[in-house]
Amino acid sequence: MLTVNARATFGPQGPFKLAQIERRELQPHDVLIEIKYAGICHSDIHTARGEWGPVKYPLVPGHEIAGIVTKIGSEVTKYAVGDRVGVGCMVDSCGTCANCQHGEEQYCLNGMTGTYGDTDKYGQYTQGGYSTHIVVTEDFVVRIPDGIELDAAAPLLCAGITTYSPLRHWNAGPDKKIAVVGLGGLGHMAVKFAHAMGAEVTVLSQSLKKKADGLELGADHYYATSDPETFKLLAGSFDLIINTVSATIDINAYLSLLSLGGTLVNVGAPGEPLPVNVMSLIGHRRSFAGSMIGGIRETQEMLDFCAEHGIVPEIEVVHANQIDEAWERVLASDVRYRFVIDISTMENA
Ligand code: NAP
Ligand code: ZN
Repeated sequence: MLTVNARATFGPQGPFKLAQIERRELQPHDVLIEIKYAGICHSDIHTARGEWGPVKYPLVPGHEIAGIVTKIGSEVTKYAVGDRVGVGCMVDSCGTCANCQHGEEQYCLNGMTGTYGDTDKYGQYTQGGYSTHIVVTEDFVVRIPDGIELDAAAPLLCAGITTYSPLRHWNAGPDKKIAVVGLGGLGHMAVKFAHAMGAEVTVLSQSLKKKADGLELGADHYYATSDPETFKLLAGSFDLIINTVSATIDINAYLSLLSLGGTLVNVGAPGEPLPVNVMSLIGHRRSFAGSMIGGIRETQEMLDFCAEHGIVPEIEVVHANQIDEAWERVLASDVRYRFVIDISTMENA
């Protein structure tokens, strides 16, 4: 076992404290990654606060991991010491079910292994990226293209792939009108990707406070959802809506913005159910869908797409001592647009 430093929460309300956690000895296909940066995802908060169900403490969140390979197992073929790599929301899956075989490991029929708060095939409780090192089987590691700095790369491992995947699946492109609901970590990446794919992009945010940013990120239009006029004006307009909101919202108001046959994809994952008015679906042949991260192959494709199109997240790098503060700001929708922890500050408590 390798003992490494981490920041852990010991209960639903924190605070984060310096802690030591165990990483397994390298198995033949494992790589040891020295983590340089870890993004803060709203899912870290939902999980740690028990909003998605009971969780075991201490918990080390973090599934937007960027770092350097420092050691490899005896049979590793994909990575070498010194490689710039990333790890996202999952660290393993069965590899044999139909979904894994199709490169959709996130939908593994036997249950993928989450990067933190899960139990891996060795029976060990998984702990995430708010730590100095992680051991991961090479099949769940992706390569960070040279053109992307490691701090900016980190949020691509969750916020990036979670928005890229549904945009690809529902064919975002020049002939599509797409709305992005919520301009946070996921939302701002959805805007960048949809714009790069050639779609006409509209941001639907609670207020107009971030309008200048939204247009700068690539949106063509920007509306405040606090204004009831927005829903009248945009009724029936969009082919695709990506809802990234972390809280329950009146989903039927947003469904009414879909055109005939349009789809609203929820990537936002509040702990409470969202009641859907089926008449709104029936009357316009609309779909209400969900999407979870993306497979490993698609995550690599997304990273390469970012390098090719010069797409990087907008980040604010924080010290490991500022995690609690950063979480409060995420909860207050005061994030522009992703907090990333500088792991080199981990040991300076
Ligand atoms: P985030 O940075 O906090 O962004 C969420 C945005 O939603 C906020 O910035 C805010 O944007 C809007 N919002 C927040 N509270 C709201 C409310 N009460 N009413 C209306 N709008 C509100 O969070 P994130 O990291 O992007 O994650 C967003 C959600 O996606 C979370 O639920 C997370 O767990 C989930 N998620 C899902 C997956 C997946 O695989 N499906 C992966 C990662 C994350 P405005 O200020 O612009 O309104
Ligand atoms: Zn995430």
